[in-house]
Amino acid sequence: MAERTIPIADMRHVAEVPQVPERTAPPSGLLADRLGRPLRDLRISVTDRCNFRCSYCMPKEVFDGSYQFLPHASLLTFEELARLARVFVAHGVQKIRLTGGEPLLRKHVERLVEMLAELRTVDGRALDLTLTTNATLLAKKARALKDAGLQRVTVSLDALDDAVFRRMNDVDFPVAEVLAGLDAAIDAGLGPIKVNMVVKRGTNDHEIVPMARHFREHYGGGVVLRFIEFMDVGNSNGWRMDHVLPSAQVLERLDAVFPLEPLEPTAPGETAERWRYRDGRGEIGLISSVTQAFCRDCNRARLSTEGKLYLCLFASRGHDLRALLRGGASDEQIAGAIGLIWADRDDRYSELRGSGQAPVASGERKVEMHYIGG
Ligand code: SAM
Ligand code: SF4
Ligand code: SF4
Repeated sequence: MAERTIPIADMRHVAEVPQVPERTAPPSGLLADRLGRPLRDLRISVTDRCNFRCSYCMPKEVFDGSYQFLPHASLLTFEELARLARVFVAHGVQKIRLTGGEPLLRKHVERLVEMLAELRTVDGRALDLTLTTNATLLAKKARALKDAGLQRVTVSLDALDDAVFRRMNDVDFPVAEVLAGLDAAIDAGLGPIKVNMVVKRGTNDHEIVPMARHFREHYGGGVVLRFIEFMDVGNSNGWRMDHVLPSAQVLERLDAVFPLEPLEPTAPGETAERWRYRDGRGEIGLISSVTQAFCRDCNRARLSTEGKLYLCLFASRGHDLRALLRGGASDEQIAGAIGLIWADRDDRYSELRGSGQAPVASGERKVEMHYIGG
């Protein structure tokens, strides 16, 4: 039976022009929000377009030939993106992830990578610079991305079974080409590679063990497979709780075949819970955004394709940084505005949802995933 999808209203214009403080001071790198959370991780969506139609993200019924993607003029240019990124880094950002839509569809994205690779954190280190991709163009682009300064990539792959995968991407794209892209990324030195599998109960949960087996056995611990709970992001993917397979059950199924033991987190605010195979053949991650909220340490901000800042994956309102950029604001003024926005942040959608409270005010609609990236 076809999934029920819900048409979306155009959310892209729900954004406020940020207030610029009267007095600005250079960013200290010590920004904290209302819950004491620092700003460390910036995800930049470089395009709202994609060549896949994954049902959990851009269902075909909604994102069809009549869907209006953003016109080129409304996208931030690479110069604008790099300028904003510099300001975010001055506020303490240490990690930048390029995403989308499909980021490799943005023409010459490696030029942007080159510009971002020049940035240095507040304490003088190179950024952790990465990109999430469906890998369809990775075989072609891996070398240029590496040469431009990209450190690693995350590849999304929901099944090894070709028929299941073709159905899930809904454009009949074969698994073999994704695996070829992944291999090209390894050859180019874009590791350690993470592979993201969104688990949808009844659709691809039977692929959990085959996926684990494949990445354990063929990559000598060089690929970390992460299982992501199907999330209620956006308004159009027909999300239902009974399509979510809780990570605890993923773990149970895996542990029965390949015994696992827990690992310590490597960084505060890390989204994945890490587990290692007891026989030493690598590790896996569990991302439990539905059953186990991790808002307490959430240090991530998201920048949409047209320069709107979102403080949570489930936000319904953005902050229009493009208006400042194109309105002639100085770097200091933009930094001041971002400082005010972050200082006022109290988003904790998953935590509220988990505790049974209404996480979104009635009448508000959440932003779509392909627009702000994962
Ligand atoms: N197109 C690229 C890709 O798929 O890797 C980058 C953008 S995509 C929005 C980023 C990540 O979000 C992907 O790993 C995707 O599987 C994940 N994602 C999208 N919709 C999701 C949902 N409803 N629940 C959980 N993860 C989702
Ligand atoms: Fe495209 Fe990625 Fe969304 Fe799939 S998850 S539709 S590949 S943006
Ligand atoms: Fe962060 Fe929002 Fe996700 Fe909580 S729900 S972890 S605040 S993005």
